[in-house]
Amino acid sequence: MTTTATTSYPDTRLLINNEWCDAASGKTLDVFNPATGKVIGKVAHAGIPDLDRALEAAQKGFQVWRKTPANERAAIMRKAAGLLRERADAIGRILTQEQGKPFVEARGEAVAGADIIEWFADEGRRTYGRIIPSRNLAAQSLVIKEPVGPVAAFTPWNFPINQIVRKIGAALASGCSFLCKAPEETPASPAALLQCFVDAGIPAGVVGLVYGNPGEISSYLIPHPVIRKVTFTGSTPVGKQLAALAGQHMKRATMELGGHAPVIVCADADLKLAVKAAGAAKFRNAGQVCISPTRFLVHNSVRAEFAKLLTAQAEGLKVGDGLAEDTRMGPLANPRRLSAMAKILEDARAVGAKVLTGGERIGDAGNFFAPTVLDEVPLNADVFNNEPFGPIAAIRGFDSLDEAIAEANRLPYGLSGYAYTSSIKNAHQLMQDVEVGMLWINQPATPTPEAPFGGVKDSGYGSEGGPEAMEAYLVAKAVMMTAA
Ligand code: NAD
Repeated sequence: MTTTATTSYPDTRLLINNEWCDAASGKTLDVFNPATGKVIGKVAHAGIPDLDRALEAAQKGFQVWRKTPANERAAIMRKAAGLLRERADAIGRILTQEQGKPFVEARGEAVAGADIIEWFADEGRRTYGRIIPSRNLAAQSLVIKEPVGPVAAFTPWNFPINQIVRKIGAALASGCSFLCKAPEETPASPAALLQCFVDAGIPAGVVGLVYGNPGEISSYLIPHPVIRKVTFTGSTPVGKQLAALAGQHMKRATMELGGHAPVIVCADADLKLAVKAAGAAKFRNAGQVCISPTRFLVHNSVRAEFAKLLTAQAEGLKVGDGLAEDTRMGPLANPRRLSAMAKILEDARAVGAKVLTGGERIGDAGNFFAPTVLDEVPLNADVFNNEPFGPIAAIRGFDSLDEAIAEANRLPYGLSGYAYTSSIKNAHQLMQDVEVGMLWINQPATPTPEAPFGGVKDSGYGSEGGPEAMEAYLVAKAVMMTAA
């Protein structure tokens, strides 16, 4: 394990009306570095009076932004994206200190964020309505697309920048104002992202940022009459609660929730490719990724070889402080994940899974857990039923593709899936029959801004990529107009 000295880390305040401010109560929460377990800063904890000010700002900001032409909105968004790219090194260092992922991943998240914002900026310029051939030749029949209104966004700690960017990109490009409750555990990189929009000249109130008690904030914002759209990324149980609340108050909602991605490795797969692509995806961000490969379903004829190669890959990963140059996997983002990994391993051992490598915490400072590979995992093991959200690869054999697909579809999750095969027939069957929102065949995950990003079943609804993501923030208004 490698360690390194941390660099400076800023305290985080609330962003209301383009001004950074403390909570009215003065309350703050501590922020910890997951590599050391030590306090590195503070974040302001909003109360109801702060939320009221943020809502008022979002309402005013919406009136300005919806009347700002799409090309001008795009220019500001592109400027913000440019600043994010320019500041990627500094922002990456902040992100690593609060979240733990290796600096190269953290910096990459900021750069990818800039790409996503730019794509949405341009897509906003193509928000076309349509003209319907009218039944009455004296009348015109039109469809115009309008922004739905101020958005309340709730984003998690695993990708503090990226999870905001997919929401803020579509919201701003559509003409909505955007009030975000970002993660209290990783607050400073979201603040640095929003600073880019402020510095790019976004009008006051169009973007806002608050932190505090997640349950208190969501139960205040979602029913509030100012808010017209809710978007959440996080766990399925919390997503179901927030979707129910949104439904009760007739608010539109996008839910990007948990997954439990199957990786189907067929007998005819290129095993080296499968291990390289799925193995890299598995341990990226220490497995704390909603599209992380989790259930490795490997044809029994190649299972032993696959398990050997994946174990070697896991053992070759340098685990350490994300700021150290040679680190390839950082700590888990919070102590809750460490306890969750311990429980998963205890259960896996009890039900008879074989631990090929890892399976233990590393050291006693920071949230480090060894990259872990389990084989011969029984179907009743917890790791094969609940999203592990950590660096654990669980392998199980299969004999027929039908059997593998049935297992892939067995769980209520349906976010992403991976498959490796050299047969077009297999690929075709997989494409048609695996119940997921995103499927990658013979390649690593490549979630681009132009493709839909979202799940089916308990993994949620709505999309955070492609033109579909824009639709979530737009209302189609029908206008019939007859010459008077
Ligand atoms: P959690 O379920 O308590 O929280 C998940 C996220 O939801 C956090 O960002 C949290 O701040 C937020 N949240 C919780 N209650 C909320 C509420 N009432 N209103 C608004 N937001 C609320 O769990 P956790 O320990 O933070 O994370 C663990 C689990 O969450 C993981 O097992 C994983 O399944 C899921 N998760 C998923 C993603 C994702 O990208 N889909 C990201 C982070 C966490």
